[in-house]
Amino acid sequence: MIPRRKTRVVHKGSVPVGGDSPISVQSMTTTRTDDVAGTVAQIHELEALGCEIIRVAVPDRAAAEAIPAIRAQIQIPLIADIHFSHRLALAAIEGGADGIRLNPGNLKKPEYVREVVTAARERGIPIRIGVNSGSIRARDQLQVVEGERDIVPLMVERTLDYIRQFEDMGFHDIVLSLKASDVLATVAAYRVVASKCDYPLHLGVTAAGPPGPGTIKSAVGLGILLAEGIGDTIRVSLTGPPHQEVEVAYEILAALGLRERRRPEIIACPTCGRCEIDLPALIEQVQEAVRGAPPSLRVAVMGCVVNGPGEAQEADIGVAGGKGFGFLFRRGKLLRKVPADHLAEELAAEIRKLGEATKNNP
Ligand code: SF4
Repeated sequence: MIPRRKTRVVHKGSVPVGGDSPISVQSMTTTRTDDVAGTVAQIHELEALGCEIIRVAVPDRAAAEAIPAIRAQIQIPLIADIHFSHRLALAAIEGGADGIRLNPGNLKKPEYVREVVTAARERGIPIRIGVNSGSIRARDQLQVVEGERDIVPLMVERTLDYIRQFEDMGFHDIVLSLKASDVLATVAAYRVVASKCDYPLHLGVTAAGPPGPGTIKSAVGLGILLAEGIGDTIRVSLTGPPHQEVEVAYEILAALGLRERRRPEIIACPTCGRCEIDLPALIEQVQEAVRGAPPSLRVAVMGCVVNGPGEAQEADIGVAGGKGFGFLFRRGKLLRKVPADHLAEELAAEIRKLGEATKNNP
């Protein structure tokens, strides 16, 4: 198990963040927040996938006014993402948000920050101080910042200033994030701030991009930090439907042994000139077949008898392709040789059987 950095514990509604609490997975809705039905439906979908904290954008009054109705219909903590307007922050707090995400530098006057902090303290909710490289860059107009990585000291300095402001008001329910779209800048910023305070950290590579490259950037950036014990809650930020963010977040955490898988692991070969079966089609069917199966299950789908049988035998259920057939294995034992056109259905049946047996006798 990777030893974690020691931090305070901050509660986002029912979810503790920091200390020994599991590293929580969060996402952000892509709906208009004032579309209450659409937003609630998306949150329910994410909740079912294991999303533990949800953030909604609050860009205007209508969004702030939707907070109570959304809050009343969901189970997981609701975080209001605020920029520029302390009034919207106050309305969201008043409306029952379980936390606020704020870049204090975006509020025009120090007294506005004070009002928001006072309201959060009265309600007993945390504030995430979210400093992004983009906002620093915009404000400082890049006078002294030439490269993406040169922005790191400025991000850290700004964050530490905000922490001091909050602490001077006696407020310690703080979570921090210092996201950049550059992976190494993100890693550097979090490393420095982690060494300078004990507040829990919300990790993310901001604007990571579409699912392919975005997943890689997030896995590398978050993976480096998590492997060093840094990070208490994560958001993978991808362009597209947010369910992908939750799935990728769990894959990252599971790969590091920091959280249990949410769905069975599928081991599959990349295929090569030796492949004897239609492996991509089989994988699609296996992905369907493992839906709802116990997450501890490992299924291996291999294209030929060169490396296939070894991997297939190590998995709970495995198949190694042959010419016009496949060898089906269950927990190391060869079950039978199956004609290629029946492979998908027999594999699915074995997954179902073993899934049921595991559920009844975990
Ligand atoms: Fe190629 Fe067989 Fe390895 Fe798949 S298992 S990559 S088909 S050698």
